[in-house]
Amino acid sequence: MMPLWKVTFVALGFWGIGHAAVRGQTECAGITWEELKGDIDPSRHPGFAPVPDHLTYKSEIYLRTEALEALDDMAAAARVDGIELQVVSAMRTWSHQRRIWNGKWSSTRFMGFTGAARASEILRYSSMPGSSRHHWGTDVDLNALENEHFESGAGAEVYAWLLDNAYDFGFVQVYGDMSNGRTGYQEEKWHWSYWPLAEGFLRCYLDLCPEAAFVGFEGAAYSDSLRIIDRYVQGIDGPQ
Ligand SMILES: [Zn+2]
Repeated sequence: MMPLWKVTFVALGFWGIGHAAVRGQTECAGITWEELKGDIDPSRHPGFAPVPDHLTYKSEIYLRTEALEALDDMAAAARVDGIELQVVSAMRTWSHQRRIWNGKWSSTRFMGFTGAARASEILRYSSMPGSSRHHWGTDVDLNALENEHFESGAGAEVYAWLLDNAYDFGFVQVYGDMSNGRTGYQEEKWHWSYWPLAEGFLRCYLDLCPEAAFVGFEGAAYSDSLRIIDRYVQGIDGPQ
């Protein structure tokens, strides 16, 4: 007869496998690749809500409702400490990201580079359409889009506050300073990800991502050789 510890071990083992399989099936149920690549209209999607005026000077920008509620709580706590948080970018659609990407591709700033080198240069701070975490509605850019802003004066106080407090509200700086060997985008002190949702979206993204994920914009042909999924989509820091 099998000893009791072994019976328990086997039973737990099966439970573990079964549980993981069920989670895999249900976690991404109802989420489509189109949604994960930003091919939706957030103003008509039931999972999104508009960012209210007290959190942004922009109009008609959207976040996933749960991420927005956490952000609102975080901004209120920051305000008590004399820190002002303003959303400068939230959910971005595939076509919005394509405008940004193609705009950079044909700008004089990147004319000195050709082919994969040009794509690589743009990728220092911008995503290929279909590969941005902003598509998910879980990530926000706060206050400014340059690291320098956060390195002195009021900007440095904001950044220090975020480092101390953001994770209490679920927010993580996913593009850190790369000293740990992280690949992909350069450091972005302004980009914060609502981890409780984004963690699952990343798993579903990797699960549902088709072979030809990146088409329909300038330089899309270089997505394979630049290893967009391995080096950029997965080139993130988690909670510290
Ligand atoms: Zn961002």
